[in-house]
Parts: sequence; structure tokens; C-alpha cells
Amino acid sequence: MRENVVALQRDDGAKVCAVVKADGYGHGAVPCAKAALSAGATWLAVALVEEAQVLRDAGITAPILLLSEPPSGAAEAILDLRITPFVYTSAFVQALQKAALARDVTVDVHVKIDTGMGRVGVTPDVLGAFVHTLEGLDRVHVDGVGTHLARADEDVPDAVAETHRQIDMFGSCMEMLAQAGIRPSFVHAANTAGALRYAAARNLNFPGVDTTTLLRCGIGMYGLSPSGDVAAAKQGLKPALTVTSSVSFVKPITTGTPVSYGHRWRAPHDGYVATVPIGYADGVPRALTNVGAVFVGGRKAPIVGTVTMDQLLVFLADTPVEVGEPVTLIGHTAGEEVLQVEDWADAAGTITYEITSRLTARLPRQYLSD
Ligand SMILES: *Cc1c(COP(=O)(O)O)cnc(C)c1O
Repeated sequence: MRENVVALQRDDGAKVCAVVKADGYGHGAVPCAKAALSAGATWLAVALVEEAQVLRDAGITAPILLLSEPPSGAAEAILDLRITPFVYTSAFVQALQKAALARDVTVDVHVKIDTGMGRVGVTPDVLGAFVHTLEGLDRVHVDGVGTHLARADEDVPDAVAETHRQIDMFGSCMEMLAQAGIRPSFVHAANTAGALRYAAARNLNFPGVDTTTLLRCGIGMYGLSPSGDVAAAKQGLKPALTVTSSVSFVKPITTGTPVSYGHRWRAPHDGYVATVPIGYADGVPRALTNVGAVFVGGRKAPIVGTVTMDQLLVFLADTPVEVGEPVTLIGHTAGEEVLQVEDWADAAGTITYEITSRLTARLPRQYLSD
């Protein structure tokens, strides 16, 4: 992860804002936040106030960007935890003003502009009105401005054109904010795909102010591909995570013998079936039924039969393995081919993000260093 942060940050002055929402995309928010900060990331980002609380409880003092507005009732918690929220509704900034005034403090916010993602944010047509609201709130200080790219991970001409259009639109919005006297310290548009593929999103200039461009990177920091069009490996990023287990049971199997729910697989010839005590309740997609593969005893062995809640089965054509033999599901055993989160995602018809963020709490995490 540290190497990935360095690779994403390059040497152009843009700084990584390490996105550790959803428990660090399943990798563990606190160790990932610490690793990212130690490698040069200057900010962290989360989706929920509760996620920021976990980081603060762990003693992390770095600035934290809250990627969406929480309910207005969370204004107090924002102050308590010293979180910087993205803001885009007058109701929420007014709640912040009220809470800050009561404590006689000022609260930093980043204005979220919706230049085309269409999810949350102030659309350019109502930006003037929102700025007008902010002008009346002396305890709310705009220290950053951001937008989010909808199609930076796609390698097709209209996605490229749309991404440039979003970045240009963001530029126009920054000009408008500059004219209204707003002087932020931070500007940001890029997610991982934006940071890797759009130089313009790494070097945003707010008129008349010396700002730092932040790169809100999640998936790339974990070394995983944002999409099939943006392969992490080609970008010099390396997966941080491995998923391992060990064999819990082994038996010989004869030609035609079915295994697991629905008898969706039958042995094509005599061999051995090994049971691995990991299943969909740990985050192995059930869609890997009869599709995925693992490494066990130095061999690649196909996942056979239905993946169950707690266990899955693999076929060993020639020789058995011992109970207790290590099994690699993601990552690699020395000298072996690397099993990729990307392959699970393809097999399950989803994206890397969904695979790792669904690794459940039941799966123990171990960190090689911290
Ligand atoms: C999750 C998220 C990111 C991180 O995106 P990656 O593709 O994982 O780099 C950045 N910005 C916002 C607003 C997000 O919600």
C-alpha cells in the first residue's frame, strides 16, 4: 500500500487523500490509514461519521474528508471529531453554523460541486445561490472545493470527452467561487482512475490562490483495478491483500460422484476433493461456484460445486493434500501464478471494489507490518 500511495502521488505536487471508507475497502481502515499517511498521503476520506470516529478512536489526527453530508443531527459530531465534510445543502451548512456558533468555533468545509456525477453536490446552476447562503454563515469556512468524475475509468471516446467536460466545468465553477471571494486551500476532482489517466485532474488551479490538488484515491491504493479498462498492474500498482485458508478435510472421489448443494458438479474422473473452510459469509462470492480456482500444495485446483456459506470444495485430479495444507485464494504462493481480485470480480459479474468491501468481519485480518 505504501508503494501504491507513492506511485499515485508521483512528484507533481498533488497529494493523496487516502479513501478508507467501508473499512478500507475491506482491508481494515485503521492500518490502511496509517500506512497511507506514513507513505505521504496528507488526508483521509470516509463516507460516514461513524467511520471517522473509528479513525479518531485509533489516535489518527490527520484531516478527514467526509465524502457526503450526514444528517443535520451529526453537526455536533463533525465538530467533536474535527472532520471536514463535503457540503452541498443550505440545511446542513446552517446546522454547522449553529453548532459552531454555540461553541464559538469555526468549521472547515469543502464544497461539493456536481459537474456530472449526478449523485450529490451543488449543480452549477444553483452554485451562486449556495455561495450566497455560505456568505451569511460566518462560522463556516470553505477550505476546499471538489467534484467527482463519473467515467474516468472508461476507455471509450465519449467517456474521455465527458471527463474533460467535467474537469472544464469544475474550472468554470472555481472561477465563479473565486469571484465570490472564496479562497480554498484544497481542490480535488480525481478518484484513482482520474489520478492515473487525467493530468488535468492532478493539477487543478483555483484562480488567484495557491491551492493543493488532492487525489481522492481508494482502489488504486489497495493495488486493484478501477475497471477492466484501467488495469492496476499496467499502472505499476500492486495488490496489497491476500486471502488464504487451509484444507480442513480431504477425500477420494470416483468418476461421476456429485458434491455440494444442488449437485452442480460431478467428478469428471477419479481424484480427490479437498474442503476449504471459507465461504460466501466470509466474502467468497457464491458466483465462483464451478468457476474459480485456488492454489493448494503448489497446484492450481478448480473450485467445484456450489460455494456454501462456510466452506467450498476444490478438485485435486491426481494426488491428495494433507489436512492443514495452506490454500491461497487471492494473491500468490511463492513462485505461483497470482490469483487476482479482478478474476473474482469478472466471475461474479462485478467490480473489484465490491469483492474486497464484502470480505466480512469473520475473516481475520493480519498485517505484515504497521
Ligand atoms: C469512493 C470515492 C472515491 C474513491 O474512488 P476510487 O475509485 O476508489 O479511487 C473518491 N471520491 C469519492 C467522492 C468517492 O465516493
